[in-house]
Amino acid sequence: MKKMMKKLALAVACVTTVAMFAACGGKEEENVIKFGTNAEFPPFEFVAANGVIGEYDGIDMAIAKNIGDEIGKTAQIENMEFDSLLLALQNGQVDAVIAGMTIDPERAEEVNFSVPYYTAKQVMIVKEDSTIAKATDMADKKIVVIQGYTGESCVKEMGYAYEAFKKGSEAIMELVNGKCDVVVIDSATAQKYVGDNEGLKIVEDAEAFSSEEYGIAVNKKNTELLEQINEILTKMIEEGTINELSAKYSEQ
Ligand code: GLN
Repeated sequence: MKKMMKKLALAVACVTTVAMFAACGGKEEENVIKFGTNAEFPPFEFVAANGVIGEYDGIDMAIAKNIGDEIGKTAQIENMEFDSLLLALQNGQVDAVIAGMTIDPERAEEVNFSVPYYTAKQVMIVKEDSTIAKATDMADKKIVVIQGYTGESCVKEMGYAYEAFKKGSEAIMELVNGKCDVVVIDSATAQKYVGDNEGLKIVEDAEAFSSEEYGIAVNKKNTELLEQINEILTKMIEEGTINELSAKYSEQ
């Protein structure tokens, strides 16, 4: 009897819970769309006092908010390590990943990517007095990259030794403190770091680093969401909204 009462109470609790969470054996709340990100990548995603989605702000976060609005769902952010994002998508922990993520063939084997919404490239951040002028100058230098970013693959392919950090901000501190000679990272994020820290400059090498395109990743099974996202992104690109967002967040 006691057991039955317990069961009954549990059932009532489940039914009355406004959000039907998986813990109750029900499905995730239907009015929420969960985006996975790694909020360590300004101007695309970072933590701020008053973000566009809770404490999360940036170009990607504004895009995520707009996608939620357009499909009539509340956009929620799950902040996690960059390396864990695609797994979380495959596990169903998040519905989509928006993280300044470069569309690459290896990742595209695991997940589907939306239409590209931003073009970037890898650049080198060095001290203002550095002699590094092209990628091959890094050969005998202390190189730092961020773990799992395309910058890491680029340096690996070049065959140079490097150290990988978990966060862009940690990598920049190494450079600022003179513990490394160069950080390889995406262009817009590099601009941000150079603007925020004295004595640094960006060195580009178009021959060594080809351009990359960012896309939103969706579980391969969820083609309906992919189509919705593509439609919304295309509209945002055509109407100039993404350009506006990128200008706004890059200036801040
Ligand atoms: N564009 C890079 C990549 O996809 C870095 C992305 C990021 O750190 N958020 O690997």
